Amino acid sequence: MADPAIDLLRDLIAIDSVNPSLAPGAAGETEVGEYIARELRGSGMDVEIQPVADGRANIVGVIEGARQGRTLMLCGHMDTVGVTGMQSPFDPVQKDGRVYGRGSQDMKGGLASMIAAAKHFASTGSLRSGRLVLAAVIDEEYGSLGAEALVTKCKADAAVVGEPTDMKIALGHKGFEWVEVTTEGIAAHGSRPADGRDAIMRMGRVLSRLEKLDRELQSRPPHPIHGTASLHASIIDGGRELSTYPDRCVLQLERRTIHGEPSHCGHAEVEKIIKQLGEEDHEFAASARQMFSRPAYLTPSNAGAELTNVIAAAIARKGVQATTGGMSFWTDAAILGEAGIPSVVFGPGGAGLHSISEYVLAEDVLTCRDALIELASEFCSDK
Ligand SMILES: [Zn+2]
Repeated sequence: MADPAIDLLRDLIAIDSVNPSLAPGAAGETEVGEYIARELRGSGMDVEIQPVADGRANIVGVIEGARQGRTLMLCGHMDTVGVTGMQSPFDPVQKDGRVYGRGSQDMKGGLASMIAAAKHFASTGSLRSGRLVLAAVIDEEYGSLGAEALVTKCKADAAVVGEPTDMKIALGHKGFEWVEVTTEGIAAHGSRPADGRDAIMRMGRVLSRLEKLDRELQSRPPHPIHGTASLHASIIDGGRELSTYPDRCVLQLERRTIHGEPSHCGHAEVEKIIKQLGEEDHEFAASARQMFSRPAYLTPSNAGAELTNVIAAAIARKGVQATTGGMSFWTDAAILGEAGIPSVVFGPGGAGLHSISEYVLAEDVLTCRDALIELASEFCSDK
């Protein structure tokens, strides 16, 4: 399939932009950002380079319509996860309607659709009113430094985040919270059970309660957009040597949250488990702390309905039946939403995000581009 948007996608994949916070020494977003800035400027757009951190910068292109109107933001991240185990991650192979390579689906496919939509307006001067903002941000795969910096500088009346949704119009997604639990024991020679207290066995008690809690969370009535909350044990570390009672065990877990749950709910649940275990066994010693949390996001219903109607009509003309719902993974839409920019998540289909064989469907990239062009024309017109 030959189309300038697919050429653009292939160029984006060919530029290594692995997030340097995930893999020390990785390329980062600088080169891909320079490429995007050149593309946008080349089509006549005003481009701002927004320095964020450590020489890393967001790229923001702006197109002004002929008359006043509303602002639509198209937001996508430039960074990708690492490439361990991939044969040729930066070689954009196109085969059977698919484009392969690291970041093809997450989310250089969506980014290519958004850049191509913006270039359409910039090169034709056809944005009748309002303003279209194309924001290519850094660091979504780690700390979302890019989106956090973006919302301090850019405002919009609505946004589309082009993460891969398989063409579903996503009206929100779950949040997450990371919690660290430490159980304490007493180190002693393995032959002296009267002296030793086993921190790993104590963590076993915590783990069995967590497993029960997870089952309970997943059996609650599902939220219509977010489904059910859940948790899993992610990383565990403890023990010193075979013949010694372990004095310490550390567990890091992830709690996935849904709308309405407080930002510290996972931490509070773990504290409650520790308290119960302490009441059952006065020697039991453990503590917990929250490491990080990001809220769930729910698109405000009015904005969600308006954006959905236009996108659904646009993709229907390409023979794609629109579906709505939520995504399980967290996105920058939560940061835009918290900053007062109602956002939907909408992007192409494919498979293998974060795995060793990743691809995006070329046809979907073009359908997304066309839908975003229709959306910008409709939304930015003065109302
Ligand atoms: Zn992504």
